[in-house]
Amino acid sequence: MNAPPRASQGLSVLHPEVTSRNVELRNELLSNCGAGVSNILDSVFSTMMSQNTTDKNAHAAFANLKAAHPTWGTVMTAPPSDIAGLIKCAGLSDIRTERMQMILATLSSEQGDTDEPSMEYLREMDNDAVKKELSRFKGIGPKTISCVLLFSMGRGEFPVDTHVLRIAKSCGWVTSSATRESAYTVLNGLVPDEIKMDLHCLLVRHGKVCHKCAANNKPQFPPEDGPLVCPLRRCKSVVSVKRENEATKTTTKMTTTKKQKKAKNVSQKVKVKAEVKVKAEEKVKVEAIRAAKAAGAVVKEEPDLP
Ligand SMILES: [Zn+2]
Repeated sequence: MNAPPRASQGLSVLHPEVTSRNVELRNELLSNCGAGVSNILDSVFSTMMSQNTTDKNAHAAFANLKAAHPTWGTVMTAPPSDIAGLIKCAGLSDIRTERMQMILATLSSEQGDTDEPSMEYLREMDNDAVKKELSRFKGIGPKTISCVLLFSMGRGEFPVDTHVLRIAKSCGWVTSSATRESAYTVLNGLVPDEIKMDLHCLLVRHGKVCHKCAANNKPQFPPEDGPLVCPLRRCKSVVSVKRENEATKTTTKMTTTKKQKKAKNVSQKVKVKAEVKVKAEEKVKVEAIRAAKAAGAVVKEEPDLP
């Protein structure tokens, strides 16, 4: 078993509430024949609401909004100040309101000026098409898209947030210089589809409670009974070391090629210089012969070599 499945197994013992919640979510997805557990717009806006704020404030803001506006059509037409007031606790309420209303207005106009804009059409698309479609809206970034694909559409996606990136680096699953984007590509290839949802949720949870894995070793929610026994020390991977070696090999190869190119350039320059010198010598010789001929001397010219 490679490192990510081992990590998922170890963390699910430590945080069983996370995996049991996911079992419910998966069952719901299956009972809907993959049709998704929630309206995609709900999923998009609730994920957008969670950016740059705490989970608690994001949930409260989203709950306020849904209580006042059960459908997205009325969010689209309501005065912006009303919407901003409802989601104030999440912060950045004016920007969030503007982006939500812009997305809704765009969808509405594209869908024949409907009062009930929808994103359910995404369910017919493959992952790449969904990514392309959602990326055109301001405020919907790669992490939001990945979350929507995973949680609302049940696709094999592994979103990379700050906790996932930090822990993946410390476990050696990605290199220490990996960005969120590069880690997303590497981890989506490394983590088997069947554990993507669990491992993502477990790492997010674990990153908030484990002293060893939290940012600056200061967990957001330190356990009352003291630090946890972290199971991730057994889940270090040599994958990144291998990858780094491969990267070094590539760099060496590139350096060698560069050296070869440089040597080739130098030898060409030397060749050109030599040719110039020979031509100059020939010119001098020809001029000397011409001068001698003009002076009436008999000059025997060397025949050209075959
Ligand atoms: Zn830990």
